[in-house]
Amino acid sequence: MTSEISLNIVKLRAEIPSGVQLIAVSKTKPIGLLFEAYQAGQRVFGENYVQEITEKQPKMPADTEWHFIGHLQTNKVKYIAPFIHCIHAIDSEKLLDEIEKQAKNNNRQIRCLIQVHIADEESKFGLSVEEINPFLQKIAQKKYSHVIICGLMGMASFTDNEDKVRSEFRLLKTIFDGAKSDYFSNNTNFTHVSMGMSGDWKIAVEEGSTMIRIGSALFGQR
Ligand SMILES: *Cc1c(COP(=O)(O)O)cnc(C)c1O
Repeated sequence: MTSEISLNIVKLRAEIPSGVQLIAVSKTKPIGLLFEAYQAGQRVFGENYVQEITEKQPKMPADTEWHFIGHLQTNKVKYIAPFIHCIHAIDSEKLLDEIEKQAKNNNRQIRCLIQVHIADEESKFGLSVEEINPFLQKIAQKKYSHVIICGLMGMASFTDNEDKVRSEFRLLKTIFDGAKSDYFSNNTNFTHVSMGMSGDWKIAVEEGSTMIRIGSALFGQR
């Protein structure tokens, strides 16, 4: 029997351009639903909570690729370092230094995206548009060997004003392009702009997203 989740995945895949990676955001969803998505060919999953991801990870097949997309506290990096593929919401040098240390302890490399606060909503997460360039300039000069800086991540305002959402995504892409040429021109890994969720991914893709993080449109409302 074809599950609703597999239908959702097939439909969505048909709509996304080939260069855009689909991250299935499975936070709060039971492992059975992740497995349905896996059976439909989905390998990349995004989770927001350390306790939840560390419980789910051993229950899924070994070739599942895990992305941590929520706010990450420095003291919890050690719990996900053995398996995490990519961490999307980096907002401090201290966090990057801890990821470097824990990745090294595990003899592996961890991909990281720096979160930029592009929405004009109150949030304590992500670097502001004013802070981002000095931050990127600084970390581009650090010699991380176990952290791979792969690009930027952002969330647009929660609004049905499409022009506003579009201009926020456009801003993130502009910051990315500037940072790539100014600070990361020698870094072939600096290639990703993680933007777009269930309600706004089409706009994000039009504005240059390379990774969309889709939860409710695949797994249903939380
Ligand atoms: C929950 C979450 C998503 C997915 O949101 P949906 O609207 O369910 O697609 C994407 N990104 C982040 C950072 C999230 O926390």
